[in-house]
Amino acid sequence: MPKAKETTLELDLVALEHNYNYIRTKLHPSTMFLAVVKAFAYGSDSVIIAKKLEKLGVDYLAVAYAREGMVLREAGIKTPILVLHAQPSNYSMIIKYCLEPSIYSPRVLREFLKASKVEKQKAYPVHLKFNTGLNRLGFWENDIDYIADMLTNREELKIKSIFSHLAASEDKSEETFSNHQINSFKKIAREFNSKLRINPFMHILNTSGIFNYPEAQFQMVRSGIGLYGYGNEAKYDAELLPVATLKTVISQIHTIEPDESVGYNRAFKAEGHKKTATLPLGHADGIGRQYGNGKASVLVNGVEAPIIGNVCMDMIMIDISDIECNEGDEVIVFGKGHSAETFAAGANTISYEVLTGISQRVKRVIIGA
Ligand SMILES: *Cc1c(COP(=O)(O)O)cnc(C)c1O
Repeated sequence: MPKAKETTLELDLVALEHNYNYIRTKLHPSTMFLAVVKAFAYGSDSVIIAKKLEKLGVDYLAVAYAREGMVLREAGIKTPILVLHAQPSNYSMIIKYCLEPSIYSPRVLREFLKASKVEKQKAYPVHLKFNTGLNRLGFWENDIDYIADMLTNREELKIKSIFSHLAASEDKSEETFSNHQINSFKKIAREFNSKLRINPFMHILNTSGIFNYPEAQFQMVRSGIGLYGYGNEAKYDAELLPVATLKTVISQIHTIEPDESVGYNRAFKAEGHKKTATLPLGHADGIGRQYGNGKASVLVNGVEAPIIGNVCMDMIMIDISDIECNEGDEVIVFGKGHSAETFAAGANTISYEVLTGISQRVKRVIIGA
């Protein structure tokens, strides 16, 4: 791998393919695969990742918002795209770009019926989301009669799937609750199918759901974080490969005398002689202030170096007192060899947050294309 000469987010498409193939080994051959590419494909690059996933043969893509789907269509992506949090103000955009909305309440169902009528649609594909305990978005079981009434003798919509989302799929101590959600979902599906006399496909599992509740695959699963190399559990992290590696370089090395301070508000005070390095990335690049003051570490020539003092907008300082290194040397912030999960854990957060937080200012470099 060529060494980084500036801050870059390296995206490894071979790792993506490996993760996809690994997750597929947990599925029945007939289970459809929806790849979640919301939030710039978890902070990486949605177009490049979606194109690769399309080549790998995923059945569906999902984004959170309509605009994210529009970007993929404009880049030539042909795979069906589910919009998880479609909003009425974007329904004409959704129809224009052939995106498939999640419909999650009586209000948005009425709004989408209106929009599809205005746009003269017939059998427009939609997906109905049911709430089984996450209490975030979704119809309730007792909305089924209303849905059935609304859709009788209407031909604008075709319900392609019904789905739900687990609240704690990664958490073994919540197994009883997760199984309860799965059973509620089955009950909803039975009632829904008998009242509407249709048989849409079903899905409820995210990445950790695939690993922990494989019996609940139904006809499709929805994986995000696993594709990007993290499995919410050491056992799965060991099988997956990080797609994104955030690299930077040492801009300058400083020798700090005892009692001198480093950075804004003098947050780091040297107790003895110290050597520090300044790196060209900061909170504007997605490394928030919560990672400062010793909470997270980066990797310099294979050795962990804590971030010291307050994170600045465009820079961080690290303690390299015991590390052999020079100005211009490459530094791994997280990724290969230094898990984003570990980096995140130091600041009490999760891989999802650190990955999706990497800002658009950081240059993306694709490897393994
Ligand atoms: C983000 C999201 C997913 C993907 O979850 P991972 O844990 O990243 O696999 C699946 N389903 C829904 C509804 C989501 O919002």
